[in-house]
Amino acid sequence: MANADTNAPHFDPRTALEKIGIDGLKKILDAMQECVWVGDERERTIYANPKFCQLLGYDLDEIIGEESYIFWDEESANTVRQNNEIRKHGDASQYEGVLKSKTGELIPVFLSGTPIPSGGTVGIITDLREINTLKRVEEELTKLNSLKDDFIALVSHELRTPMTAIKGYLSMALEGDFWELSAPVRKIIQASYDSSLRLIDLINDMLSLSKIEKGAMTFNMREVSVDELVEEVRSGMEIVAKEKNVAFEFLSEPGVLGERLSVDVDRIKQVLFNFLTNAYKFTPEGGKVSLGIGRTPSGVRFAVADTGVGIPQEKIEKIFDKFYQVQNQMRHSEEGLWLGLALCSGIISAHGSKIHVESEVGKWSEFSFVLKTVR
Ligand code: ADP
Repeated sequence: MANADTNAPHFDPRTALEKIGIDGLKKILDAMQECVWVGDERERTIYANPKFCQLLGYDLDEIIGEESYIFWDEESANTVRQNNEIRKHGDASQYEGVLKSKTGELIPVFLSGTPIPSGGTVGIITDLREINTLKRVEEELTKLNSLKDDFIALVSHELRTPMTAIKGYLSMALEGDFWELSAPVRKIIQASYDSSLRLIDLINDMLSLSKIEKGAMTFNMREVSVDELVEEVRSGMEIVAKEKNVAFEFLSEPGVLGERLSVDVDRIKQVLFNFLTNAYKFTPEGGKVSLGIGRTPSGVRFAVADTGVGIPQEKIEKIFDKFYQVQNQMRHSEEGLWLGLALCSGIISAHGSKIHVESEVGKWSEFSFVLKTVR
């Protein structure tokens, strides 16, 4: 230090430490959050801090001079004896044991014992009851969560068969297989048919998500050109754009359509359709949705952008959480069950990549991911 005071007395940390003395040392131990016990080479109590005394229900005066073995249940007292032998060689040791309070209450603890150079031991003790309770609660929650997932999967599965039958009958009715339909009846049956399709999509999403989460989803990877991968998506969206007053733009860097990828074609198409459907859902009339494909050093980048309502920064972190909107008060009328993006995220991570989201509220959003090219 350039401006150090050369007249200041010499700083000697050892002397300063000695000056702390016995009372200072006790103050340090008393301030500790852990239970601390200090004993001599014959395990007789020299000192214990208030936390330790409180845990076992003793006054300090009652235990000074008492051997540490009286604090343990029989089995743990044997463990303590064995570990004392280890410490005689100067080594620290850690183990779990059961303390016995003055009233006979048994307390599971973790002990870290360190030998003191002058002989004796300092033991730092952690009460494991709270930790054990937390562990049990965590196990319980994990079990409940898995039960909930199994329940959703089971219900979805049970719903799929009757829904598929309903869809089939409605489709036959629409085709006039049962009777000639008047215009108002046709309208109602068409609406019911459309709803059955939406329900089946939802059920399928729930089943797929549950499979992905369990690691049971099979992906049929095959080599495909970028062109082949996006062709159906592109033509599909051109039709949607004609129906809605929102433009669709397809942008591709020169040569990128010829790049080859190893992917599950149907699943990647599903992701792109999901991004694009959302983009259309959240973009007001007169706006624009685009699918852009370009190269990056690590592969081919797919980006779906829109000039829609945007997503607030704090919401971006949540949109991949399934069912998140259930607890969200600020719902947009177009919002569904928030399954789509959770599923997309699982599909893209199964391809070794990640979805990236950027947005500006009221202006635009962009969902993108990069897939490795086949060399
Ligand atoms: P869903 O569309 O069924 O609600 P998703 O998982 O596909 O489920 O989307 C979750 C939420 O993310 C949407 O409800 C919406 O709030 C937000 N979101 C997704 N895409 C966009 C977008 N392009 N613009 C604005 N918000 C979006």
